[in-house]
Amino acid sequence: MTRLEKHKTTKSHKTYFIKDWLLLHQITGAQLKHLLCFTHHYPSIPNAVEDRVNETAQHIWNLVTEALTDFWPEHDLQINKAFNCTETKFSSDTSTPFNLDNGIDQSPSIEINYQHSPVDALHIAHEFGHALQIICCRSAFISPIQRELAALLIEKVFLKYVQDKDNNLANLLLPIWHSNRCTYLGTDLNAVKHAMENPQSTYNYRWNYPIAHILLETLFHNSSKLELWSMVEGSTSLEELLSKCTSDFKLKLNNYLPPYMHSDAEPKLIDAYRALGMAALLDVETWQGLAENKIDAFYKQALHHLQNNSLLVVTNAQHQASGYATWKQDTHGKIIITHQTAPFGDHLLLLKKLQRHLPNILQANAYHPSSSNKEQIAWHR
Ligand SMILES: [Zn+2]
Repeated sequence: MTRLEKHKTTKSHKTYFIKDWLLLHQITGAQLKHLLCFTHHYPSIPNAVEDRVNETAQHIWNLVTEALTDFWPEHDLQINKAFNCTETKFSSDTSTPFNLDNGIDQSPSIEINYQHSPVDALHIAHEFGHALQIICCRSAFISPIQRELAALLIEKVFLKYVQDKDNNLANLLLPIWHSNRCTYLGTDLNAVKHAMENPQSTYNYRWNYPIAHILLETLFHNSSKLELWSMVEGSTSLEELLSKCTSDFKLKLNNYLPPYMHSDAEPKLIDAYRALGMAALLDVETWQGLAENKIDAFYKQALHHLQNNSLLVVTNAQHQASGYATWKQDTHGKIIITHQTAPFGDHLLLLKKLQRHLPNILQANAYHPSSSNKEQIAWHR
């Protein structure tokens, strides 16, 4: 199954790699690895069903609306807006369905070449999901994994409804859902794993599907309807979703760095070398940013922070390095955290220890180079 996903974004000829993909989603390689180590590989199976869906595309579109308002009656305004306002073209000559975000004042549009196949019918639910999300988030940026998560969630809610209301249609659609699942967790997941082992692999939009699918499968039954709606809106960060997902696996992200024991008898220089080494290791585990700097630039920057006492490496209860941060102070005494990383998910521990380390600092802002709102408040007391 191939699906072109068109979104109105600035055209760029830049080649992207897995590190760019992780950075875009504000997640680390270790977090992704952690998620993937609990998933099993599936063999891909072809869409075997050649059956015909008798319903018209418009009927399916109506049915999706019914399913969603039944599941989230409190959000019927937005659901009906997606139903009424989306510009739909069901007999498009496009080879693959797509959706377009036409901007904040315009309705989204979707195009499908509806040929009455069960695959086409499920595509309608999928594209409804994209259109609904575009309406809910008012054209704010939503990461590709979160986009696909919303679309797959709408497919799932639609299927659940159809199973209750229309057995014949459900029997046509369920094999497609299953076959898609095998593709996501088969060839698509393999492609992600391959890219993680070969960081020079170029970005492929299909990388987003297996992650979205794993999140959906894990979180669907363990989340309230309110939490599920936040996935439609794209208002829960991917990092939160991943950590909820991995905590639902009842396993903690495994920190595989060696423990270290500090001794007061050691010369201070050893401690400085250790901090430097741990900072480098933590950046390497994060898979993005500083570990890509040239060694002399990394060293110069880290040395500058060490000499200014503006670098803190924190360890967990097992004495393993779990995160580090660097910062600078502006003329008003405010701290700006210039870099922070906790690749094994200990962000709160890092923040808590940093607050304790800087007891007199009333306000700290964190610098997020990949966010549109570059400086965000880390604490205010
Ligand atoms: Zn999609």
